Amino acid sequence: MGRRPIILWGDPRLVAPNEPVEGFGEELDTLVTEMFETSWATPGLGLAAPQIGVNLRLAVLDLSVGKDSEQKIVLANPKITSQEGRVSMEEGCLSFPGLFTTFERPKSITVRAQDATGKWREIQGEDLLAQALCHEIDHLNGTLLIDHIRGLKRRMFIRRVKKLQQAGAWS
Ligand SMILES: [Zn+2]
Repeated sequence: MGRRPIILWGDPRLVAPNEPVEGFGEELDTLVTEMFETSWATPGLGLAAPQIGVNLRLAVLDLSVGKDSEQKIVLANPKITSQEGRVSMEEGCLSFPGLFTTFERPKSITVRAQDATGKWREIQGEDLLAQALCHEIDHLNGTLLIDHIRGLKRRMFIRRVKKLQQAGAWS
């Protein structure tokens, strides 16, 4: 058990197709535990499997960052079943370390997902939880932070990434 290296934007595994989770058992439990530990250590609010180079439709979320086990959410094969409203919020991503940008997300969403035992559950989220759920589900579809911004904002974001890469801070 332990931390897994997080891959950064530019690595093709971040945008590769993700296979459905089919096996629920000890191996998946280990992967989920490693994903929570990796997310907490960084620290981050959530982590999708492709971010550690595992191309599965699997993500974890914990808005308490390890402080409250009640807030741990495992998303296996998640689907957004409804969404409402729009709200603009600042957002970051562990695969774009140190960078943030602002764009619109639904204000509230409902997601159906399996937990680590394979049981289906419905998760409702508003504001930060809605944003985090959308962010992780985006990862499973190969959609990244940068795909939500356009024009000058996007060019400036990429320039900030390039600066970090040139400074050797992108690994
Ligand atoms: Zn992310």
